[in-house]
Amino acid sequence: MEHFDVAIVGGGPAGSSCAAFCARAGLRTLVLEREKFPREKVCGDCLNPSCWAVLNRLDLVNRTRALPHAELERVEFIAIGGHRVITDLPSGDQCELAIKRSFFDELVLKRAGELGAQIREETTVTALRYSDTGETCSHGPVAHLDSDAPHGRGYSSSWKIETASGENFAARVLVGADGRNSTVARLCNLLPRPERERIALQLHVPLPGNFRNRVALQLLPHGYVGLSPVNDEELNVCLVAKPGNINALKTWAAKRFTVSSDHAWRTITPLTRAAIPPAHENLFLIGDAARVIEPFTGEGIFYGMRSGELAANAIARTMRGEDRQATLREFSRAYAQMYRGRLWINRLARAAVLSPRIASYLLRLTPSSYAIMRLLTAKIALPPNDNDESLRRLK
Ligand SMILES: Cc1cc2nc3c(=O)[nH]c(=O)nc-3n(C[C@H](O)[C@H](O)[C@H](O)COP(=O)(O)OP(=O)(O)OC[C@H]3O[C@@H](n4cnc5c(N)ncnc54)[C@H](O)[C@@H]3O)c2cc1C
Repeated sequence: MEHFDVAIVGGGPAGSSCAAFCARAGLRTLVLEREKFPREKVCGDCLNPSCWAVLNRLDLVNRTRALPHAELERVEFIAIGGHRVITDLPSGDQCELAIKRSFFDELVLKRAGELGAQIREETTVTALRYSDTGETCSHGPVAHLDSDAPHGRGYSSSWKIETASGENFAARVLVGADGRNSTVARLCNLLPRPERERIALQLHVPLPGNFRNRVALQLLPHGYVGLSPVNDEELNVCLVAKPGNINALKTWAAKRFTVSSDHAWRTITPLTRAAIPPAHENLFLIGDAARVIEPFTGEGIFYGMRSGELAANAIARTMRGEDRQATLREFSRAYAQMYRGRLWINRLARAAVLSPRIASYLLRLTPSSYAIMRLLTAKIALPPNDNDESLRRLK
């Protein structure tokens, strides 16, 4: 059985970033990824400008810009009935790009490999054991952070990770970066009950000639549609609706974009579930595995990458001998700071999609709706303050 310092389950933006930073810090790093990359996934494909700082620290800015992409200039909020509120997006170094996830995720995973992480694709994690007891994972090893917990340095025990093909790996630290339906969280009895209140569908269609470089967030009686070009030829179409309304929305989109009935839509649920604490004794949950973000805001990739970076920082420092509990507490503070002042936008976005008629009414009739949408766009598209102490120490 191969032994690693850190095993990361999931090679999306969260897992790959975490792996890249862990490997660069000199840790023996393993990524176990269920799919064979490149692969698409249900996403609006928009890269929030906040990502540039993390990409810069991974030396990926130029390579990201070299991928096929669309540079998005403005966002249009469209109410039922067609009323539009248009706001500009940042330009230049801090612009928002749309890039297909097949390209972007493959780039970040490849970077982790270049920095020394071992990448195992088409490898699905199915079981976890804790080496102290040999028992299948349960609440046992997942000690919650509390100020009375014994202080310690490094990690004395380890995880045994089993895959669907019967392979086994051992690692001192485990990172669950396996998305909103996280197997790691489920196996550790941490996964909250999902709320199947909405479903998302996604596909790429030929780019209509007059679409231009804009993101359109359109409210319809049955739900919400997000549209953005991802290169010179393709448009990303995302649909979000309550389960009872999704077929009506799909029919609308099929007609609007001439999608044949046998075209397969990618699908995902849940879009909402309770957050899970990200830091445990020798277990971290990052990206969607810890907290699911509203699609409307287009911030999930950033939170994934940034939480991956913060977790790598905490793991590397603990492995180097810093006090474990103090490091975990610092990680938790930096993690909370990342979301500070931004989660209310998520609640607003969710309410808008659940009640598109009310949201449309407000968009149409509020005299200050332009100023409000501009403020929201700026809040989402401006880089957050990532100037925290824990990151400075890693650099
Ligand atoms: C409709 C919609 C639109 C969105 N639009 C945007 C947008 O425009 N911009 C944005 O920033 N965010 C957007 N998001 C959110 C974004 O897609 C996620 O936040 C982001 O993908 C989270 O990254 P992650 O690495 O945490 O998880 P994921 O990207 O989900 O990666 C998890 C990885 O884990 C792997 N995995 C899962 N289980 C196992 C297992 N048992 N063993 C091994 N591997 C496993 C999966 O194959 C996957 O590759 C959108 C979400 C939705 C639903």
